[in-house]
Amino acid sequence: MGRIIGIDLGTTNSCVAYLEGSEPHVIPNQEGARTTPSIVAFTDKGERLVGQLAKRQSIINPKGTLYAVKRLIGRKYQSAEVEEATRRLPYSLSSAANGDVRIKVAEKDWSPPEVSAIVLQKLKEAAEAFLHEKVDDAIVTCPAYFNDSQRQGTRDAGIIAGLNVMRIINEPTAAALAYGRNRKNAETIAVFDLGGGTFDISIMEFEEGVFKVLSTAGDTYLGGEDFDQRVMEHIIAEFKETTGIELKNDKMALQRVKEAAEKAKCELSTAVETELNLPFISGDKTGPKHLVTKLTRSKLEQLCDGLLERTRGPCEQALADAKLTADKIDAVLLVGGQTRMPKVSQMVEKIFGKIPNNSINPDEVVAIGAAIQGSIIKGDVQDLILMDVTPLSLGIETKGGTFTKIIERNTSIPATKTMTFTTVQDNQKMVRVHVLQGEREISELNKSLGVFMLTGIPDAPAGTPHIDVSFTIDANGIVQVTAVDRASGNKQEVQITASSGLTESEIQRMIESARQYSDEDKARKDKIKYQTRLESLIAATQAAFNEVQNLIKPQDRQTFETAMDEAKKALETADSEELKIAYNHLDLASRNVSNALMQQFGTEQKKAEIPKPS
Ligand code: ADP
Ligand code: MG
Repeated sequence: MGRIIGIDLGTTNSCVAYLEGSEPHVIPNQEGARTTPSIVAFTDKGERLVGQLAKRQSIINPKGTLYAVKRLIGRKYQSAEVEEATRRLPYSLSSAANGDVRIKVAEKDWSPPEVSAIVLQKLKEAAEAFLHEKVDDAIVTCPAYFNDSQRQGTRDAGIIAGLNVMRIINEPTAAALAYGRNRKNAETIAVFDLGGGTFDISIMEFEEGVFKVLSTAGDTYLGGEDFDQRVMEHIIAEFKETTGIELKNDKMALQRVKEAAEKAKCELSTAVETELNLPFISGDKTGPKHLVTKLTRSKLEQLCDGLLERTRGPCEQALADAKLTADKIDAVLLVGGQTRMPKVSQMVEKIFGKIPNNSINPDEVVAIGAAIQGSIIKGDVQDLILMDVTPLSLGIETKGGTFTKIIERNTSIPATKTMTFTTVQDNQKMVRVHVLQGEREISELNKSLGVFMLTGIPDAPAGTPHIDVSFTIDANGIVQVTAVDRASGNKQEVQITASSGLTESEIQRMIESARQYSDEDKARKDKIKYQTRLESLIAATQAAFNEVQNLIKPQDRQTFETAMDEAKKALETADSEELKIAYNHLDLASRNVSNALMQQFGTEQKKAEIPKPS
């Protein structure tokens, strides 16, 4: 296996890192920068620009410059979030046939993952140039709050970029991994991540190399861009007051104000006052107008007060979900560029009652954590496990003791999956749902997590009821299983704690033995499959035969009965091959039975159609 790089695919900036021995390093991009703006631009000349080059020309090409595309990943066009984005973003959005959001640029409808893939591709190429080797495998991070379709979109972006996405991990988990991997003592930490587009708060614990997310909360629509927006609105209002000119509808002016607002905001993290200077921003009868103004840190803080306050609720929620109080938190990590604003650390200090840790670089720590995770998967770094993906598949026992997976291992959590099952006997009144975890195809060889019964299924022939079995794993690794009978609406659910109680070596052993036995398991599973298939055919054709045997020629009747005997015998003894042959024989012999059945049905139809004499 080659190297596995770690990628932080950010809303605003992306970063790529790798491990040399046990030391993580950030890989500089082609321009020599350690982070790359997640921006793609299409110019009038048909050029495609990525990163800093795209950012630099955004002022003159607002409609063709795609930024904050991560906000659109995995979203439907008809959603509150996209509506909000449409109001803020200068480029056009539309709806795909399936309702997903599309970006209209360069005479094409782009899906958000396609655009993100262009950023990922740049990072991949930067890594290949820097490392002098081909790079295929990557760990890509996403906000802890991303749902399944957003995660899927992130993975798709990687695949489109030609990367083999080994795993999608949560950004705060990656940060905690980078911070905690060399720390010996058990710690409970909070990861406070305020980036350009999203806010995530996670409460985690780690002990002896085991990292566990206890709770997560956040706001998928709170980030540095909102701070920029506040500054922009202030500048625009002030400009209108002094000149009477409205800049709101001038896209080009807006882009310039946006850039200046962000720059001023960043400067105010270290300075207490800064100047904004935008010559020729507009004009009227009296000539060109320049925007020159001062902004102080205290004014910025006042403008953004409401935004800062919005971080409190999710923090309290996360603490409550983790059943902890702030004094139980050993350290608070600040992640994301916006946490460089002094008022943000002050807010964090107020919420958690302690000065946040400043030993990590908020712009790079996520990519570094992802690179460390890559080395764990590769086996270069041992004694570390991450608990925010399901380490083993989850599923239920199905007919013949086989194991049917519903959620595959390595699925990022939170996740929900539903599969529909049915009964195996006529008028079966209840089903036993046996929940298991593992990789083996035979259920008894996996770890049993629990059993429950779904009762009250109305009488129906075998195979007709629809029983929806859903698995939900939330951000805490808690699995909830529900079984619902569609006809009666009867519902049963249980909560199970997944992935706890299994050590890394147990997991490895299970994976290893699964590999070793997979052929053997497959043969057994095949046999059960063919047996089940043959059983159903026997039942169906026997019933039909009983109904219409008088209409069948004696010779055909004989053939059918012979095939039926053979089939019943095959069920007792035969292997997969013999089961298949018996199935084919019976299937063939039963054609005359179905013909007779059709004939009878046709006669009945005709009878029914004859009008009553009046
Ligand atoms: P993302 O994870 O969303 O890609 P980043 O972690 O790169 O975001 O953070 C980007 C945000 O951080 C931007 O809104 C940027 O303006 C802001 N930012 C970067 N540096 C500073 C700074 N020194 N002070 C305040 N905000 C900053
Ligand atoms: Mg980030």
